[in-house]
Amino acid sequence: MATVSIPANTSALLLDIEGTTTPITFVKDILFPYIKEHLEDYLSTHWEEDECKQDVHLLKKQIEEDMRQNRACPVHALDQTVHTDEEKAIREVVDNVLWQMAADRKSTALKQFQGHMWRTAYASGRIKGQVYQDVIPSIRRWRAQGLKVYIYSSGSVEAQKLLFGYSVEGDVLDLFDGHFDTNIGAKVESKSYENIAERIGCRAEEITFLTDVTREAKAAEDAGVNVVVVVRPGNLELTDEERAHYNLITSFNQLEVMGHA
Ligand SMILES: [Mg+2]
Repeated sequence: MATVSIPANTSALLLDIEGTTTPITFVKDILFPYIKEHLEDYLSTHWEEDECKQDVHLLKKQIEEDMRQNRACPVHALDQTVHTDEEKAIREVVDNVLWQMAADRKSTALKQFQGHMWRTAYASGRIKGQVYQDVIPSIRRWRAQGLKVYIYSSGSVEAQKLLFGYSVEGDVLDLFDGHFDTNIGAKVESKSYENIAERIGCRAEEITFLTDVTREAKAAEDAGVNVVVVVRPGNLELTDEERAHYNLITSFNQLEVMGHA
């Protein structure tokens, strides 16, 4: 694939994580299975701690909200192995978290709880954040050329910081000028990109967004953001139309930012 030049007025690069800086399989095959496998253990161990209590409180509020809106909810089967109230309460949270994950819900309550579980795993060295080889050297090069670099992921800011704070290349958090998650808005909504431009303090036209998902690319484009679609192994196949419409790269090395101070 050829080199892709970004507009000369670009002042900030906005990077997606999953399928862009990091293999989709990292999230699918490592992070999410970790939650499922250690969920009950984690809750039992941390149940009495304030942070865990707050997480559980938020998850319960989410369940109530779901019931009010008549969304489907997990059915609790009577389990003979559960005896104490605490065990029952833990089982309820386990069922709900597994159900939300199976439904691919992106609720803040779920994201926050997962973030706390992952922090424990990263801090103990059981998980290391994966990034493609071309990512860190490219970001260093862009920064040396005067560009600011931000992350925008549907994973919580806390989860983002863990991934880059405990990455296979060590703590690389100092390479980023800021992090955005769905608190700023959904990635498939144009308004989110306007909000990000406002927070960064530049015009949407000065931002180049790198993502693997064309629905996100479209939303960013509609806001006036310049978009480059990243093609990585295991990413969703693009249609011929999408291939023709978007600038594509398979490696960050292909992004040409020459001309920047
Ligand atoms: Mg992505």
